[in-house]
Parts: sequence; structure tokens; C-alpha cells
Amino acid sequence: MPELIADIAVNAPLKQLFSYTVPDALAGSARVGMRVRIPFGRRTTVGYLLELRQGSGEGLKSLKELLDEQPLLPPELLKLLRWAADYYLHPLGQVIRSALPAGLGGDKSSLAVLREPVYRASDLTEQPRGEKQRQLLEFIRQQGEVSLSQLREGFPAPHAALSRLVELGFLLQSEQERRRDPFLTEPLPEDQSLTLNQEQATALSALSAALEAGGFAPFLLHGVTGSGKTEVYLRTVAEALERNRQSLVLVPEIALTPQLVARFRARFEQQGVGLAVLHSGLSDGERFDAWRAIVRDEVQIVIGARSAIFAPLPRLGLIIVDEEHEASYKQGEGFRYNARDLALVRGQQQNCPVLLGSATPSFASYYRSEQGSLTRLQLQARSHAGEMPQVELIDLTEQTPDGALANRLIEAVQQCLERREQALLLLNRRGFAPFLLCSDCGTSFHCPNCEITLTFHQRERQVRCHYCDYHEPPAESCPKCQGLNITPEGAGTERLEQELAELFPGARVARMDRDTTSRKGAHQKLVQKMMARQIDILVGTQMIAKGHDFPGVTLVGVLGADSILNLPDFRAAERSFSLLTQVAGRAGRACGGGQVLIQTYNPEHYALDCAARQDYADFYQQELPFRQELGYPPCGHLINLVLAGNTAGQVKGAAEQLAGRLTAAAGPVEVLGPSPCPLARLRGKSRYQILLKSLERPALRRLLGTLEEGRGRLPKGVALTVDVDPLDMF
Ligand code: ADP
Ligand code: ZN
Repeated sequence: MPELIADIAVNAPLKQLFSYTVPDALAGSARVGMRVRIPFGRRTTVGYLLELRQGSGEGLKSLKELLDEQPLLPPELLKLLRWAADYYLHPLGQVIRSALPAGLGGDKSSLAVLREPVYRASDLTEQPRGEKQRQLLEFIRQQGEVSLSQLREGFPAPHAALSRLVELGFLLQSEQERRRDPFLTEPLPEDQSLTLNQEQATALSALSAALEAGGFAPFLLHGVTGSGKTEVYLRTVAEALERNRQSLVLVPEIALTPQLVARFRARFEQQGVGLAVLHSGLSDGERFDAWRAIVRDEVQIVIGARSAIFAPLPRLGLIIVDEEHEASYKQGEGFRYNARDLALVRGQQQNCPVLLGSATPSFASYYRSEQGSLTRLQLQARSHAGEMPQVELIDLTEQTPDGALANRLIEAVQQCLERREQALLLLNRRGFAPFLLCSDCGTSFHCPNCEITLTFHQRERQVRCHYCDYHEPPAESCPKCQGLNITPEGAGTERLEQELAELFPGARVARMDRDTTSRKGAHQKLVQKMMARQIDILVGTQMIAKGHDFPGVTLVGVLGADSILNLPDFRAAERSFSLLTQVAGRAGRACGGGQVLIQTYNPEHYALDCAARQDYADFYQQELPFRQELGYPPCGHLINLVLAGNTAGQVKGAAEQLAGRLTAAAGPVEVLGPSPCPLARLRGKSRYQILLKSLERPALRRLLGTLEEGRGRLPKGVALTVDVDPLDMF
């Protein structure tokens, strides 16, 4: 006799689904997309119910419990997750686990739904006796239905009066779920109403035509810094709302984009539009509630970082990816998806427009817009104040500065201070000095787990590994020659901050990097101080280049511009161009103009030259032949295989064997390596990589069949990581 069978994915490194019978008692309420508890091996575990069918239950165990009252994973989302599991070669159960917000994917029954009483008036028409009771009842009669938390805003300690009113039959009490929302306590920022300029209006009309037409339509909004992209986002979301469609807005990192979030809230919350902001600062409970509110269709707009691409919006009508070039859209560990790319897939699956926006589009997106698979919309003028900043390259080969700053930059900072304006200095390296050196014998100090030097942090008197966080006090004498002349070499933001304080004694200098912003709220505090002009010079890593709109900044200085350019990565030029253009765009946003000085040993390099002229199109033209000739993305496709294990010899041997098998089956795929990873030891593991490269994606996919066989033959202790479309290859 056929029974009800459930096919279930488990959070384990296993590709297949597992079948269980559904006990009669649960058959009525089991739905696809729910979490379930199942016996698995000798333990019980949580799984995700993906299919229900009639079949023979012979030899199957039965599932134990349904963990949700309603499916957490709507069908559209499951479709995206299945696609991603296949494309990124990652087990579906683990893909689902990482799509669900922390605290939801697993077995936290402690995440209880919060409930609260709601009150509504009965049809009794007379008045109660007490004054407080009268006021409360009057209010509830006017409002219709009111929750306890809403009542508390206007009436202190309403409990006793409410119970009395219920007792007397004036009020009917029921229960509803209450959403924990971190923003309920924050004041609402003010909305600015703007008249769109010509370019913005043209972009918007293309987008609203796409919304009107329905169906998938991918766009690239290429707008210089300060050109008013955010306003275009806001208007497009409003248009989607008018058509009763929900919007998903992805940003690189919520904590670094408080201004964008504030503008969305200001525009939409007053109109009573439900908005959810998903970010890592939320408690598990808040995330749980936000997710469920989204599933239940109580939210019209979701703003979030990378993982918000999996937000379970049932009526999704628009996806926006702001700063689409940002590397943070790529998850660097485990399930290595790229949210920007998945946005396009999701748009295709759910038939809606997708808008990628950036002042410096990723090379790949611009390439697609040239090929015609993305429609490009341009904003070439700053929305107000007009002018773009003047950028000048300072050639360090002509004169090496004594300290970190060239004379030309020192002068410019001095003048900026005299004008009582603000300066932003970018140095993309935190800590005091990148390494300590024994000046007697030349010994430097390395991380015992990773193959890199330890960065000296002066304030905390530590040397630290920036990869694995190994740290120890700095050595007082050289372990090799016992010499006592240990000196910090090179400069990080901490040293720069100190040098500036010495150069400009009256100036208020502050620093923004991962060390000074690790505490909750610290980043926002620095932003506020900048806005209030309580800082004259802000020093920082690339964090300062992102998304801020500081009206008082008229000077931007860049130190160490060559450090990214010299990375062993085919995207080094793209990264440098993008970072320099972005940081240059922070200058003169309010008053127009502004000055940007970039110190470099490579002033001739096209990435710097084009950044200095803020000329994206020229950069693209110069970069293109290089990508084409070498078959690098987006012209070709890459998959990176990293093997890691305790002993270098074992890893190397396994990598060679795997590479041999792959080469034998390669066809039109180039198998490069194995070679030691650029960071050949990381967190105590030896690492080798094999890079698969092809102009034909289907050929790459075919080769992965061979990979799946090879995986089973890896020696114990060697782990294989597959990175499809890798972004960085350290
Ligand atoms: P982007 O995101 O492209 O860097 P923003 O959207 O932050 O630029 O806009 C930069 C500034 O210009 C903001 O202060 C914004 O309020 C203002 N702005 C945008 N559009 C207009 C407009 N049409 N008229 C006047 N000011 C505008
Ligand atoms: Zn380390």
C-alpha cells in the first residue's frame, strides 16, 4: 500500500536526499519547505523537507517531528537554492543551511515565537467607570484592533485597566505574534524630496517600462560617485510598490551603509511600508522574526547584505544590487556563492527586473553591458555641484618621501586645514607596520601557521597575523643573532595616524579601520563625528572609500596605491582602478571640485592613469585585450580547486594525482597546476591549487564529473574545496 514519503535534505556534506515515511499524525500538516526532525544514523538531526510523494515505505524510517507551522522555504526560494547547489557544486542541505539566517537553519527550539495580547472593543456601548478605563476604551474603539505594545506607547502601565475592561466585557482579548524589530526604537530620519535631473529621469523611465512590461530585465546603472544612484533606487522601488510588488535591495555591508538604509527608511516607513533590514548585528530572535514576517508577506522592502539574496519574498518584483563591484558579495568560505550573480539568476527565475549599480562596475558586468546582455544606464554628471574632483598622481620614483607622506601631500593637507575643511587619507593596511625587522641580520617575523609576516600593532603591543589572528608580544631581541635593533618597517594606518599628529599638531586626527570599528556602534560614531566636523583628518583602510557622503571633505590622499596593483591576481588592475576611483569620489561632494592626490611608484600604469582621469571607458578598453588573450573572466571561466592538509608532501601528491586525472579528461579545458597557493600555508595547513580554465562553460561542467570521482579517492586528511568563479585566489 502506498504511503506518504518525504524526501529530505540534511545539513551534511552529502549530495543525495534521504527518504522517510510521514506518520499519519503528521501527514495532514507536512508541507514542502518545512524543517523536520529525523533519525539519522545513530542520532537525530534537522532536515529540510523538499518533496512529498506517494510510494512504498518499505525499509524507510519515519520522520519524528515538524519544526515549523508553516514552510520557511517557499517554492521560489527552493528553486534558487537548487540551482545554486548545482552550479556551485555544494551539497543542497548545506546550501539551505547557509541560506537560512543563523539560529533558523538548525535546531534552536529556543527561538520561540513572541506573542502578545491584542484588544478589540465588544459591542457594549455604555461607558466604564474609571477615567483611565474610559480613555483606553475610547482609544481602542477608535483604532479597531490594538496590541499591547502599541497601547504602551500612549498609556503607561495599562495592565490593570485592561484586565478589568476584559472582565467587564468591554474588551475582547486575543493573541498575535509580535515581531522583534531593532529599528522600532530608532528615530526616523527626514526624507528629502528631489526633482530628478535629466539622466536620472531617463534611467527611471527605462526601469519603470521594464516593471510595467513584467519579465526578467537586467540593467547596469553606471553612475559616477555622487550622481544620485540612490535616488533612482528609491524611485524604482516606489514604482514596484505601486504595482504591488516587493523589492530586495542588496548592499555590500549594512554596518558600512547607514546612510542608504536611513534614506530608505525615511522615504518609505512614513508611508507605512513594511521594511526589513537583515544584517549580522541582529539577534537570532530578531532575525527569526524578520524572516517569518517576510514569508508571511508583511514586508514590502528587504535591505540586506550578501545572504539577503535568499530572503523568502513571495511577490518579488525588483532586485537592486548596490555597489555591485564589491568583493563582499562573494562568500569566501563554505558555500562560495556570489550574491550579485545569484541576483541575476533569481530575477530570471521570478521574472523581474534586476538593477546592478556602481560608479565602478565590475569588469564582468560592464563587459556584459557591452555584449548587450545587461542594459546600461548612465549617470555621467554629479547630481548637484557639478564638477568632479581634480586628481593628480605624485610620482614617488622622482622623490622618495622621508615618512609616509610626500611633500606635495603634506602641503595639500596643510592648506585643507587652513581652509577649515576635512581630509581623507587612504592607506589600505591596518596596524602600525607590516613587519618587524632585525636591522643587524635582516631576520623578519612570520606567523607560525601561515606563510606571511606578522603585522606590528603598537597600541596593543602585539604582532598579529591578519589571516589567522595568531598574536604574541613583539620580540625584544632577534632570535637569530640576539641583536637588539628590531625596527618596524613600512607603514600601516596606526603609524600614519601618529605621523599626522606629529606633522599637524593642532589637527584632530581619527582612524577608521577594522581595529577601531570592531566594537558595536564604533563605525557609526566615527561617521557622525565626521559629519559634525569634529574630525579634521580621517585616516583609514578601504573602509573609508565606501558609500559615505561627507560634505566637508575636499581633499583625498592615497598612500600605498601600489600594494593592490602588485598582488598576484589577474584582477589587480581592476581592483586598483575601482578603489582609487571610489575614494577619489569622496572629495568635494558638497561644494563641487575637490582635490585628490595619489602617491605611486607606477604613475604610468593604465589603472592609475585612468583612475586619475576618472575614465571608466578607457580603463575598460585597455583591460579588455589582456582578458581576451589569456581567456580570463568574463571572456573565459574559472574553477579553482584547493587541496589542504597537514603535510605539504601529502597534499602535493594528492594534487598531482587529481590534476593528472583531470588533464586526461580535460578536452577544451586548461588544467593549470597544481601549484602551491599564493599563501602556501594558511592556518597551519599546506595548500595546493589546481585552476581549471575554459572558454566554454559546458566543458568545465563536464569535467566536474571527473572531479566528483576524484573526490572519493583523496587520501584521508586532505580536504578539497571547489570554488566556482573564484574572486581571489589566496
Ligand atoms: P550616488 O549613490 O550615486 O553616489 P547619491 O544618491 O548618494 O549618489 O547622491 C548624492 C547626493 O546628491 C545626495 O546628497 C543626494 O541627496 C543628492 N541628489 C541626488 N539626486 C539629486 C537631484 N535630482 N537633485 C538634487 N540633489 C540630488
Ligand atoms: Zn597566521
